[in-house]
Amino acid sequence: MKGRIPDHIVETVLSRVNIVEVVSEFIPLKRAGRNFRALCPFHQEKTPSFMVSTDKQIYHCFGCGAGGNVFNFLMQFERIEFPEAVEILAKKAGVVIPESLSYDTKESSGINAQLQKACETAASFYENNLSVPCGTQAREYLLKRGIPQEAIKAFRMGFAVEKWDALINHLRSKGINLSLMEKAGLVVPKEGGGYYDRFRNRIIFPILDVKARVIGFGARVLDKTLPKYINSPETPLYIKGKNLYGLWLSKDVIRDLDAAVVVEGYLDFISAFQQGVRNVVASSGTALTAEQARLIKRYTHNVVMVYDGDASGQIATIRALDIFIEEDMQVRVVSLPEGQDPDLFIRKNGIECFRALILKAQPLFDYKMSVLKSRYDAKEIEGKEKICSEMLSTIQKFRRPVVKSEYFKKLAQELKVKEEALLQEAKLFHTGGKERGLAASPAVVAQKSIHSVEQFLIKLMLEEDAIIAELKDKLEPDDFLDERTAKIVTLMFDCIAQGKGIEPSKLLTHLGDAEATRLLCESTFLPDINIENREKILADCVQRLKAKKLTFKRQCLQEEIKAAQEKGDEERLHKLIAEFDTLIKTRRGTG
Ligand SMILES: [Zn+2]
Repeated sequence: MKGRIPDHIVETVLSRVNIVEVVSEFIPLKRAGRNFRALCPFHQEKTPSFMVSTDKQIYHCFGCGAGGNVFNFLMQFERIEFPEAVEILAKKAGVVIPESLSYDTKESSGINAQLQKACETAASFYENNLSVPCGTQAREYLLKRGIPQEAIKAFRMGFAVEKWDALINHLRSKGINLSLMEKAGLVVPKEGGGYYDRFRNRIIFPILDVKARVIGFGARVLDKTLPKYINSPETPLYIKGKNLYGLWLSKDVIRDLDAAVVVEGYLDFISAFQQGVRNVVASSGTALTAEQARLIKRYTHNVVMVYDGDASGQIATIRALDIFIEEDMQVRVVSLPEGQDPDLFIRKNGIECFRALILKAQPLFDYKMSVLKSRYDAKEIEGKEKICSEMLSTIQKFRRPVVKSEYFKKLAQELKVKEEALLQEAKLFHTGGKERGLAASPAVVAQKSIHSVEQFLIKLMLEEDAIIAELKDKLEPDDFLDERTAKIVTLMFDCIAQGKGIEPSKLLTHLGDAEATRLLCESTFLPDINIENREKILADCVQRLKAKKLTFKRQCLQEEIKAAQEKGDEERLHKLIAEFDTLIKTRRGTG
């Protein structure tokens, strides 16, 4: 996450700006004891759970878990990258960042910039093909599909001619070499050596990132040849699950309307957008990922899904619902008539009908319920059980207990079963029982029970540097079983070893891990701990951590032993048993 701006500059900026002043430029803050409080700008809420600390120079939302230092706030609020946030705040604080390190120059060098140039040159080449005689057939095809010239231009659509080396020759003439073309996914190596153009005789849809830079391509046939679409492979520039088609055009509208319409294909996007439903994006080419959901969340928390009206569209929708829920977003669903996609629907019925469908989108619960009822017989016990377990798997994903309990109630009513029965079923489900078909692994069990001890220690260490020094003598970072706490502790131990004091806001610039950041911010805002016999409590915590770690190791070894037994791997079994014996002896030693 860190740019090339050196630590000392980052730290100077951090020490000169006050997070309270910066945040209050964007949202109204109210004093609450030593801290400040506000309605969270990152999720919808009625009572404020967003806290800002002057002492610690950190913010944290107890509702959605957002949190970090002043850089994180700016990045999250303004949807910018770390170096950009540092630059903005440096200006504010009067800190000069050397020209050679500034954000723009950093971007224009390096492999990504070269790949981007290759993609941009290819996009212009394809675009141009549509306006010369070799592109006549493609142009006519697009017009016939109701895509006018302005749209072709706006979406930078193009055409790849039916030749094996048209693009290769063009890019060569522009000084772009074959290895770069290959890295950019534009050409494919031949078996006997040499390369050929990846896209031939296809309509080209350039894929642009949010900053409107070409990073990849989708390509569609003009006839019934299969595959209908091919896409760029993943490249350092184009990571499929991290991009949404069309967001470069629709992001501002999505923010203004505070809602996004999510469709599947390029043409679905193009039809809707050019006819005036402009808050649209396409997940094109992949099943929706959590990263794509988070990308939408930068602009809105409200999503309407309009996937294809067939079985695979249904399955994709249900999967995506869970992802949006896990991201704490509000989602509704439009079901299109069987066999239709948004593009076809709009061409057949007009954009106003499409708008009407969006307005009437179903809440996710109703949608999933109706899909399940069409699959299973809700009057039979067996059907009820299936519907119940599939609905529960979704309901369990809601982060907030109130929402969860409302859905339990609703599900109980729908299925005509007692709510207590559902709650019991849910418990079964949650403990990793039969529905998921796997027992909770030792790592999971261990994590639940250690979490509180580890977080307790983090909180104590944040309060007093002396405690860190003390614990550093007694514990190793990997005595902390939770990966997040281990990362935080490693950093804290390093700081102390270098004779530096602990400032949470500074730690965060080095942490670079979303989950660990969240835990650190949350710990900062937990009530202070006043412990009387500190020595004893610390010693107790240390011992508990050590014991947990031994138990954890033992459980892992037992599993490995079992696996080796099943495989009949005598040699490995021998070794593992020896290890196990040593471990037991150590345990007696500390016990
Ligand atoms: Zn929040």
